[in-house]
Amino acid sequence: MRVISHELCLKHDPGIGHPEHAGRLRAALDGVQALGLAVEVSQPATQDQLERVHSHGLVQSLLEQRGQNFRIDADTALSADSIDAALFAAGSGITALNGLSVVPRAFCAVRPPGHHATRTQAMGFCLFNNVAVAAAEAIAQGFQRIAIVDFDVHHGNGTQDIFWNEAKVHYYSTHQSPLYPGTGADDETGAYANIHNLGLAPGTGSEVFRAAWCQLLPRLAQQRPELLLISAGFDAHYLDPLASLRLSEDDFAWLTSSLLETTAFSSQGRCISFLEGGYSPAALTACTKAHVGAMMDRSITAR
Ligand SMILES: [Zn+2]
Repeated sequence: MRVISHELCLKHDPGIGHPEHAGRLRAALDGVQALGLAVEVSQPATQDQLERVHSHGLVQSLLEQRGQNFRIDADTALSADSIDAALFAAGSGITALNGLSVVPRAFCAVRPPGHHATRTQAMGFCLFNNVAVAAAEAIAQGFQRIAIVDFDVHHGNGTQDIFWNEAKVHYYSTHQSPLYPGTGADDETGAYANIHNLGLAPGTGSEVFRAAWCQLLPRLAQQRPELLLISAGFDAHYLDPLASLRLSEDDFAWLTSSLLETTAFSSQGRCISFLEGGYSPAALTACTKAHVGAMMDRSITAR
């Protein structure tokens, strides 16, 4: 089990009082440390790697803001180190992929998060789409079937947008509905029936959440992914201040184990997970520990 991060990810500062602050990453790293894991350094993504999933215009306009303070929208702002943080966050999955034959599982403890960044737009606290950059790199390395599972409480509109027309990538998401960004209806299914959305009503707890995933897991099994990527947001936790689902860390451990069991045979255990949202530091420590702890379980086999 590898953990990949970069010091610069702590330096991105979207402003005083912003919920997406460096303390989140420190809290997640506390969870990793409690498991006795060492943290490795990420490499930065290159412009070519970013432009597999983002338009040249978006990448160029963000790179031009390097070293500057800049506001993209009401939620999304840059400090002097933000673009460098975003480059290392986007490269973390590539660092993980390049060691996959030796260590098949990795957790990328990075920020800014990525799943709201579309092909042409940075938004919703996200600059580059970290999980999408990794999926595109996996395609470039020859993977034919990639699953992206997103259990962040918000819908990953950016990831859905980027892979809408890509049959090699299936995207699976549960998310609170209604909630930002307003996408993720069950009938948004992608050009190749490769998008799988399930909205959850505000107040949803453990039982309904697990039942929803019991509907999605057979579709994941049917895809037979060679690589499992996870957008691990922990803002569906009951302590989270930005949403109103009522999950506990045990639910994230259960889902992580279920995903690994479902894909164990087709993926040979290959799984890279990325920190997305999660705005209660206390919940982030507990959830990261539960999620990464489940990823470390060597007893998980195909079912
Ligand atoms: Zn979120």
